[in-house]
Order: sequence, then C-alpha cells, then structure tokens
Amino acid sequence: MVRLQEIRANEVAVEPPAATDAGLVFIGRIRTPWTSRLECPRQGRRDGPTCRIEIFEPWSPALAGIEAFEQLEVLYWLDQSRRDLVLQSPKNDGTTRGTFALRSPVRPNPIGTSLVSFVAREGATVLVRGLDCLDGTPLIDLKPDRCQFTPLAPPQPGDFQVGD
Ligand code: SAM
Repeated sequence: MVRLQEIRANEVAVEPPAATDAGLVFIGRIRTPWTSRLECPRQGRRDGPTCRIEIFEPWSPALAGIEAFEQLEVLYWLDQSRRDLVLQSPKNDGTTRGTFALRSPVRPNPIGTSLVSFVAREGATVLVRGLDCLDGTPLIDLKPDRCQFTPLAPPQPGDFQVGD
C-alpha cells in the first residue's frame, strides 16, 4: 500500500535540520498520467505509457543532440514526499529497513531517478517511456544513460574522461 503521510508500526521519524539552499534549479516539469500516489507505479516500465518531459526556458538549447540516445537517465524531485523517516516499513507489517536501504520516495532529499527509453523530441519537450512519478513532478536533470555514453577510443593522456 502506498504511504501518504502516516507513520507505520516501528517506523522512526527524526527532526531534520533546517533545510539549506543547495542551489538546485528545476529545469522542467514531467507530465504523466498519474495524479495520485495510489495509482502511480512503484518503478517505471519501458512498456509503460509515454510521458512528456517539458524543459523550461532558457534551458531548451541544452537538448541539442539528445535524439542520439536510446536511453536517458531522468532525475526528479519527489516534491510530495515527507523527508523525516530513517526507518520505514514498506510492507506495513512491523518490519523496517533504513531509508538508505530502500528506493522509497521518502528520504531526506527526495530525488528520484529513472532509466527511460527515448521516444521522440517535440521542440522543448522530450517524450519517454519508463517513468514512475506524479504529473507535474519537478525535473532536476536529464542525461544520457552512462552505459551508452562510452568513449569511442581508449582515453589518451590529457583527454577528458567520461563524466567530465
Ligand atoms: N524510480 C525512482 C527511484 O527509484 O528513485 C522513484 C521510485 S519511488 C518508489 C516511486 C513512487 O514515488 C511512486 O510509486 C509514487 O508513490 C511516489 N511518487 C511519485 N511522484 C512523486 C512525487 N512528485 N512526490 C512524492 N512521491 C511521488
């Protein structure tokens, strides 16, 4: 059962420190069919519905070349999550695991990631399959899947390395 804001048996919440501004800028918005966490998939599926990643200005020129990649990594901000649980009970059966041993949306910095299939680009919008977030979820970043982003030749001294 999807958690909303409740505390389940044996879960532990802490008083988090005051939030600081990490300087994140939301660069877009994700449009999906899901408006409720009760209907949202727990992980995206490549045969799931096509979703739209809308890039805000002035960032649309940063999409140049994205069509070359079949797989993309999407990073998003799970903005409706609580952020204070250190122990969670995903099955609501009294057994718990630490937040960092889970992919739960409930975490101190609620960043979600999905590997998705590129479908098409329509101007400043990228169509993909494989997402699992609510309609309107803020976008943090979009990048080629690291498995596809490999150098064509072995690196030479002085070359930039993958990840630079
Ligand atoms: N694939 C990502 C990951 O592994 O980092 C997210 C996985 S998380 C288990 C996906 C769940 O987060 C969804 O089933 C939904 O319950 C919840 N969720 C989706 N969008 C959200 C949002 N904007 N705010 C809070 N929770 C969200």
